[in-house]
Formats: sequence, structure tokens, C-alpha cells
Amino acid sequence: MQKTDHMFQNKEITEEICKRLSKNIPNPKSELIHDSDYTFLVAVVMSAQTTDVQVNKVTQTLFKEYPTIDDILRLDQEKLQEKIKSIGFYKNKAKHIIELSKILKEKYNGKVPSNREALESLPGVGRKTANVILNTLFEQDTIAVDTHVLRLSKRLGFSKSDDPLKVEEDLEKVIPNKYKNNISILLVLFGRYTCKARRPQCEKCILQDICCEYNK
Ligand code: SF4
Repeated sequence: MQKTDHMFQNKEITEEICKRLSKNIPNPKSELIHDSDYTFLVAVVMSAQTTDVQVNKVTQTLFKEYPTIDDILRLDQEKLQEKIKSIGFYKNKAKHIIELSKILKEKYNGKVPSNREALESLPGVGRKTANVILNTLFEQDTIAVDTHVLRLSKRLGFSKSDDPLKVEEDLEKVIPNKYKNNISILLVLFGRYTCKARRPQCEKCILQDICCEYNK
């Protein structure tokens, strides 16, 4: 494969990157502990600005003791705060979780809605969280842009932007349709374990020969 020396990847190399990532991570799944659509939504809301590892430390106990929406609603905000206080922004997150649980119960029969508008109207749910939910729970080809996706999109030459919405638009344009469903989680996992923020493991990277960052 020809080395790339430009900022944007061409179509052939983009497809090759997607192919190699899919082969390298054959069953890409969120690492957030959950056992229902509801607990997944709660875990994703908790994961903003926090690592999945930190969220899982809290939720593995929380979801055992309070597995359903009714169980969580038995807790008031202060009690929930106390249980999740080891994660960042826990006060706001506890408030959002209690509020969104009430809305789900009252408006959606306790179910997580499957459309963007309804999701984004929930407290604590922005575009990125809605994209994760639509992609993971409802298998829509939405592309969630978190810090890993942002960094890798730049390093791999999919986007030049630092703005998550622009990066999402760029990925929508350049990623072949058959890879759209998994591209976000593939980039998250590849960014978490190989193409890390501070010390990317370029020496053993499967994308070394076609990576913009490595070949610039
Ligand atoms: Fe990341 Fe380095 Fe691999 Fe490029 S070669 S994708 S910078 S780990």
C-alpha cells in the first residue's frame, strides 16, 4: 500500500483502515457494565468526562442493588450522589439521572426512546450520548464523537477539525456505509488500547504504513 503524505486520506486507504480495525477488533462492544437499555443509558450519562473503568467501579454495585428504573427512583438525589461520588461531576450526574428516570417513567413507559429528539430532550443527554444510544441499543449508523474518536480522526486523516460536530460530519462523508455502524466503537477501543493520547503504540500498530500522523 502506498504511503500517505497528505492530511486527508483517500477512499481506498480509508476503507483499508476500517477493514484492518474490524479485523483487529472482531466484536467491538461498549465496555460499560449494563444489563438493560435503561442501565446502559444511565452508565453512558455517568461516563461523560470520566473513564469507563471509573464508571464500572460504581455501577457494578449500584446496578446490583438498584437494577431497575423504579429501584433508582427509590433513591433521592442525595442518596444517589453518595453512591456515585467517586466519579467526576457526580452531583450533576445524580440530578440528571433522577430527572431523566422520572421522564422515562412518565412519558415513555419506563423505556429508552429510540429517536434523537426524544433522547436529546432528556437531562444529561447531548448529541454524543444520543448517538451512542442510537448506535448501541437501536443499531442505527450514528457516529458518536468522543475524545478518542476526535484524536484518531485527526491522526488517521479523516478530519482536520477539533469540533466534534464537524468531525462527525466528516466521518459521515468518508467512512464507507458498511463500516458506519461500528466505526465509533472501533476508534474508541483502538484509541483506548493502542493509539493512546500520550503514548501511541506506533511501533506495533497495524495502521503504521497508512497513518497520516506516523507518516507526516
Ligand atoms: Fe496511532 Fe501511531 Fe497507529 Fe498512527 S501509527 S494510528 S499514531 S498508534
